[in-house]
Amino acid sequence: MLKIVVCVKAVPDPKLACDLKIDPVTKTLLRCDVPMVLNSLDKHALEAALQIKAENGAYICVLSMGPPEAGSIVKECMALGADKGILLSDPCFGGADAYATAYTLATGVQKIGDVDAVLCGMASSDGATEWVGPEMAVMLGMPVVTRVREIIVGNDESWEVKSALENGYRRMRVRLPALLTVTRDLNAPRALSFSGIIKARKKVITQWRLDDLGVSAETVGIKGSPTIVTEMCAVDNARRVTFLEGTREEKAEQLLQKLIEGGLL
Ligand SMILES: Cc1cc2nc3c(=O)[nH]c(=O)nc-3n(C[C@H](O)[C@H](O)[C@H](O)COP(=O)(O)OP(=O)(O)OC[C@H]3O[C@@H](n4cnc5c(N)ncnc54)[C@H](O)[C@@H]3O)c2cc1C
Repeated sequence: MLKIVVCVKAVPDPKLACDLKIDPVTKTLLRCDVPMVLNSLDKHALEAALQIKAENGAYICVLSMGPPEAGSIVKECMALGADKGILLSDPCFGGADAYATAYTLATGVQKIGDVDAVLCGMASSDGATEWVGPEMAVMLGMPVVTRVREIIVGNDESWEVKSALENGYRRMRVRLPALLTVTRDLNAPRALSFSGIIKARKKVITQWRLDDLGVSAETVGIKGSPTIVTEMCAVDNARRVTFLEGTREEKAEQLLQKLIEGGLL
């Protein structure tokens, strides 16, 4: 039977994004007062795995790295139909950049073992680097296809996928085991059901700490992070309206000047 790992991230509730603050010194997100929810693109990754399970049979393991509170989103995935939920949680994992996150998750995937496919969202709604999936694939020695908008399960050897382009898609066959990052166009995630929530109550989340992964504290979290955010800048993209006065020719001349002054011509 196919074994699929779905990587899910607990992110601050985007509806409360205006309450998020960034530490001016460390440039890290101050998340403490904002409730965590399941990253929306990861719902599409899980839905894809659930549909594959329904049509072809599969064992779905959800994997998340985060603080203990992230257990709630792992439980939510189990209520939606995942067979197993694993939370990688240890103070040493804190402050990880995309590389250290990918390394910790990849170590988790290796510990799960015999994995046929790893599904990730294309991006998280908070960090949004889109690097975690591709970096994990390199670490796991798997081929990667990003921006997947359709999966056609073939045999146990390979799948066909459509990968989104700006104005279309690219259809390709990928050898398993493979890692796919998915877009919103892939499917419509199902809603939580009451029976799913009741069933998930009995399911236990597996927690793995640093020692369980058998890696050094130097390779994870902030210590294992080779990148650092050095600046965060909000771009002012508010529109301004200016009415031009004069004849048509004068208005055209003024418009031309404004475009030149604005560096647009
Ligand atoms: C300005 C800024 C400040 C930050 N501050 C902090 C901070 O204070 N503390 C902190 O912990 N992080 C912080 N981060 C976030 C941290 O750098 C990223 O969460 C982490 O590196 C993962 O990268 P990403 O979110 O960009 O993932 P992306 O590459 O955008 O995510 C793609 C997919 O990878 C998977 N994925 C990503 N992360 C996880 C995960 N943890 N578990 C399971 N699956 C995952 C999901 O499937 C997700 O859809 C900050 C990021 C930014 C931009």
